[in-house]
Amino acid sequence: MKRFVIIGNGPAANSAAEAIRKQDQASSVTMFSREFQGHYYTPALPELVSGEKTAEKLIVHGPQWYERLGIELRLDCPVQDADPERRLVITAEGEEVGYDALLLATGGNAFVPPIPGTGDLKVIPGVFTLRTMADAERIKAAAGQGRRVVLIGGGLLGLEAGNGLLRIGAHVEVVEVFPRLLPRQTDSLGAKLLQGLLETMGFAFHLGRKTERIARTPDGLEVLLDNGTSLAADMILISAGVRPELELAGKLGLAVDKAVLVDDRMRTSLADVYAAGDVCEHRGRYYGIWPAAVEQGRVAGTNMAGGSAEYAGTVPSNSLKVAGIALTAFGEIDAEGRHQALVFQGQANGLYRKVVHNQGRMLGGIFLGDEQGARTALTVMRRDQILSPEIRALFPAESA
Ligand SMILES: Cc1cc2nc3c(=O)[nH]c(=O)nc-3n(C[C@H](O)[C@H](O)[C@H](O)COP(=O)(O)OP(=O)(O)OC[C@H]3O[C@@H](n4cnc5c(N)ncnc54)[C@H](O)[C@@H]3O)c2cc1C
Repeated sequence: MKRFVIIGNGPAANSAAEAIRKQDQASSVTMFSREFQGHYYTPALPELVSGEKTAEKLIVHGPQWYERLGIELRLDCPVQDADPERRLVITAEGEEVGYDALLLATGGNAFVPPIPGTGDLKVIPGVFTLRTMADAERIKAAAGQGRRVVLIGGGLLGLEAGNGLLRIGAHVEVVEVFPRLLPRQTDSLGAKLLQGLLETMGFAFHLGRKTERIARTPDGLEVLLDNGTSLAADMILISAGVRPELELAGKLGLAVDKAVLVDDRMRTSLADVYAAGDVCEHRGRYYGIWPAAVEQGRVAGTNMAGGSAEYAGTVPSNSLKVAGIALTAFGEIDAEGRHQALVFQGQANGLYRKVVHNQGRMLGGIFLGDEQGARTALTVMRRDQILSPEIRALFPAESA
């Protein structure tokens, strides 16, 4: 009987545990989480902030799931150390737990840029990041009708969180260092259309601006921008990306570049130690998205339990989940105009379609205001990438 240990309880960890159980019903599987609740759906955290969903609604796996699969889930039990020679992990309480195969699925943390004044976020009341359910609960408790929120970072996650705050009556100003919104998901035309839609909803934007400093004032908080603009705020939400949680990887001595390096079988540089999800990088690529974590976890779990699976990559697709705005981007969006593209801008407010291709082979696309079109294009992208008649039909000749 083998001992499987999984550090983490996110999508990578859960899909790995499930894959292990498919191969091996007898061995022990122990999962550690530094959080308090079962596996939950992180992408819906902005809806927890807005009150549209309750914490219970976000739970993907409750206690019964772990019981049914015979998995021991240790909640509120951070793993603090690991000893690869003795093949054991050590909890914050000092308990040693041995393993035959170990999965590092510790995910990532919200990145906080070195802005003077941020210091240790935990000790600055009113300054937040959003990564966990506990973060969402804290933000929700601090936000409310009429509160002035400055959002530092206008990426997908920031805009979704900002939308959650708008919905509870907050005023939301977004500071974004890039001169346009969502530089990785839109080109300049798409970004302009999107910005218009978001402004109609109540967002205010300061694009192409750096935050110089955050300071406390008698009136609350102040965000000072590089052009001298001063924004008054009751709370600040920093949404500047994610960084892998590498503390244990360092203690294990794993090979790391941007994140833990894994091969196609999700093996790290250390025998019998695997990694999956936001903690790892595969073939030079860091995904930071849910579907990649699920797939990588499945591959890791299968191999840990003696099966055989390989990870070949995930076509990254991102959607902005803001009610009334349908934006989906996938693969190469070619903001620089280096490739061929089919483009259609509809009469309807904000409708924009773009498919990037190379001699008829689809490389990626942007769809704003057309969920059905986005689904069709994504299906083709994942199937054979051929610019089929169904794709061409989305681009009436006069606009292509
Ligand atoms: C607000 C928000 C919205 C998002 N929206 C989307 C979206 O729309 N689409 C999309 O594809 N992706 C989205 N993402 C990203 C997606 O949630 C992540 O890519 C995914 O959760 C990564 O899964 P993971 O299992 O690698 O890590 P995580 O989900 O980060 O889980 C890591 C786990 O490790 C545990 N852990 C870490 N260190 C320790 C330790 N030392 N001891 C014990 N436990 C530990 C944590 O408690 C946690 O359970 C979003 C993320 C956020 C925060």
